[in-house]
Amino acid sequence: MTTTSQPVTMDKLLSLAKRRGFLFQSSEIYGGLNATWDYGPLGAQLKRNVKDAWWRSILQHRDDVVPFDAAILMHPATWEASGHLGSFTDPLVECRSCHQRFRADHIDSNNCPNCQGELTAPRQFNLMFKTFMGAVEDTASEIYLRPETAQGIYVNFKNVLDTSRRKLPFGIAQVGKAFRNEITPGNSTFRTREFEIMELEFFVKPGDDDDWLQYWTEQRMDWFVSLGVDRANLRLRKHESDELAHYAKEVYDIEYRFPWGWAELEGIANRTDYDLRQHADHSGQDLTYFDDQAQERYYPYVIEPSCGADRAALVFLIDAYQEEKIPPRKPGGKTETRSVLKLHRSLAPVTVAVLPLSRNERLVPTARRVHEILRQRFNTLFDDAQSIGRRYRRQDEIGTPFCVTVDFDTIDDEQVTLRERDTMSQLRIPVNRIVDAIEDKLRHGW
Ligand code: ATP
Repeated sequence: MTTTSQPVTMDKLLSLAKRRGFLFQSSEIYGGLNATWDYGPLGAQLKRNVKDAWWRSILQHRDDVVPFDAAILMHPATWEASGHLGSFTDPLVECRSCHQRFRADHIDSNNCPNCQGELTAPRQFNLMFKTFMGAVEDTASEIYLRPETAQGIYVNFKNVLDTSRRKLPFGIAQVGKAFRNEITPGNSTFRTREFEIMELEFFVKPGDDDDWLQYWTEQRMDWFVSLGVDRANLRLRKHESDELAHYAKEVYDIEYRFPWGWAELEGIANRTDYDLRQHADHSGQDLTYFDDQAQERYYPYVIEPSCGADRAALVFLIDAYQEEKIPPRKPGGKTETRSVLKLHRSLAPVTVAVLPLSRNERLVPTARRVHEILRQRFNTLFDDAQSIGRRYRRQDEIGTPFCVTVDFDTIDDEQVTLRERDTMSQLRIPVNRIVDAIEDKLRHGW
């Protein structure tokens, strides 16, 4: 079996994503809404698995982070204080001929990339979506959709501190929707105007911040590798001083080698005490921390790893895609090509597919019984359509790590065939041991 080293093209990946039900364009029957995507049955499960994996690593496996879930709508004063009203902008240029708009920092030349026309001078374009709250549409009822979840955590810092009685260093984590009116969305779910973000605000003593920035940068890089992303496709890039966000002292981007080149996957920022100080100033509330060891009061510094769940799910898909040439089974037979998503087992939307060899009426009830046992423990799928070879290919293409096949021998010997996706090797396992066998393989590999 040989594996192609060609990186997958976006066309190929998006065609698979649509064909198999990972991703659909939003409102497709009305012609679609630009740069907005809906997750189909497999995509919805994949994205949930990505968020669960993040949640496990940031919260469940540690004892210094607590969960949070802030509302999307916040008091408008929040965005005044945080600086988003004034500074959450991208430089926008417009072509005087074709009127296309671009982000000035995303284009290389002084002319329009579309028609070579003359571009306007850049103007700062605020990325926040504005709407109205209540029945009256006037400036007093203007409200914003949050462009990040972090501010919901900062304005609740005191609430969390008082109720969870945490000592520094500790973190508050949340996953939720964010909205940005991007000038140039694109590359499928890479840059959209509505997306989900997984954010940790980790509060530390000032002076310890540089070390914690290093720590979280390494942790986050390792997380992607632990979930199967090839380290050679990841790199770290430190922000130059002229590209730092208004709140940041130092930022690292984890970049991924996308089919169109290196681009940001996650940002890890040292946000200093900027946000807590701003909210304390604007609200008049005391948002300091009392350090009872040092007997002093101060604003903690914040280290923030911030990762888009949609962008991460896209990376896991791209990195998992492979095409393999399978030599003919019989002399003179044809070499086949299989597309396989080598998704990490904890990310694959389906963990175990149950496949009766055929729709024979003696087989199906046995297969249903085996399915009933497996679905208590795993994400499963029952598939009895078409030939068994085609069904294996279909499962390979959606990244299912294990298939359990029920055949005529099963009726007599109560054994099923367990097939593994990557090696395509097969084992005979008694039905009463199948759950343990799969658990064992999930933990220790094939
Ligand atoms: P970019 O320059 O790529 O637009 P950014 O620097 O504005 O991103 P951050 O503010 O650092 O992004 O956001 C943190 C993370 O949120 C990003 O690393 C990315 O994973 C995700 N993210 C940001 N904007 C979008 C978007 N428009 N669509 C999807 N994910 C996004």
